Amino acid sequence: MFDGIPGQERAKALFRRALDEGAVSHAYLLTGPEGLGKVQFAREVGVALVASCGGCGTCAECERARRGVHPDLRVIEREGERVRLEQVEPLVAELALKPFTAERRVWVLPEAEQLMPEAANKLLKSIEEPPAHVHFLLVTDRIERVLPTIVSRCQVVEFHPLSDAEVEAYLRDVQGLGGEEGRALARLARGSFERAARFAADARGAHLRDQYLHHVSRLFDGGEDGTPEKRPVAAFLGVLEARTRAIADETQADLERRLAELDAQFADEKTRNWHRKRAEVFTRRERDRRSRQAALDALDMVVAWVRDLLVTACDAGDAVLNCDHAAELSAAADVRPEQYARMLATAAATRKDLYLNVDQKLALQGMFARFEEVARSA
Ligand SMILES: [Zn+2]
Repeated sequence: MFDGIPGQERAKALFRRALDEGAVSHAYLLTGPEGLGKVQFAREVGVALVASCGGCGTCAECERARRGVHPDLRVIEREGERVRLEQVEPLVAELALKPFTAERRVWVLPEAEQLMPEAANKLLKSIEEPPAHVHFLLVTDRIERVLPTIVSRCQVVEFHPLSDAEVEAYLRDVQGLGGEEGRALARLARGSFERAARFAADARGAHLRDQYLHHVSRLFDGGEDGTPEKRPVAAFLGVLEARTRAIADETQADLERRLAELDAQFADEKTRNWHRKRAEVFTRRERDRRSRQAALDALDMVVAWVRDLLVTACDAGDAVLNCDHAAELSAAADVRPEQYARMLATAAATRKDLYLNVDQKLALQGMFARFEEVARSA
């Protein structure tokens, strides 16, 4: 049942045993870095709990539950910036109801760190003394931001980054991408198979990585000549901007399809408008989430390149992440290692800004400006 999620053998064994023995706890908190498939994992456990087959993964009931249309398996997506009391209250009131078709009811709550304190406190009472048929699966990338009283009442299940070898096997076996490129992308994915999957899609399609690396390497070989729009920084940001526009177009097309479906589905205007509004909110969030991810991926490409220049300058070339570009790295690494280290510190600060939703373009421009200062002082 966890076929789509590589690694995490301990978490899988824990839940398989609990399901076999009928000893599934009432509240779990799945925690660990982003990109490890935690929400997907929680949904799979939910499917196993509500499907009468116990989660074979192939029958019609499993398939329905996976698509999110099983009445006893609910995934609570936040409706606003955070999960507010008003969103949790009706759900808690509904908990006392018997399951609709299954023996149990399961709630999956992604982004548990986004619970407002009042909403968390409301939920806490249900987690402490849940009706016998109710199970909670909370998920977070940042356990330090989850209310401690929530954490202490859940069984905490930690997810760990995969090894490079595991990601490499995933890229080869699932994504069909091997060789030196597969090895490089596995290293660049830093233990996340979801990131690896994005990089594999890029390697099959847009080749943003090649473009980013091309422009970044020009930063270091005095690529300041040429027209302004051809300068490395402008060119780099141009690639990212094109990607952001493509994401906006894709999500807009998805939204229009979804709105057409809703128009056909709901005759009542009030109901239809309510669903339309929700679809618009979720689309906007998805667009923002993917744009931020694209910016973070772009930044990570820069960081990996500078890091590789640093290890190459230190004669530790075996440790490079971009191992499919080892020759270019050897040719390019000529600044003193301290310069690269200073650039990495700048990039780390920029990554934090991007994670916190600061204006992407400004943040990256600022980073490149400081890179240039460092290079000039070399
Ligand atoms: Zn099944």
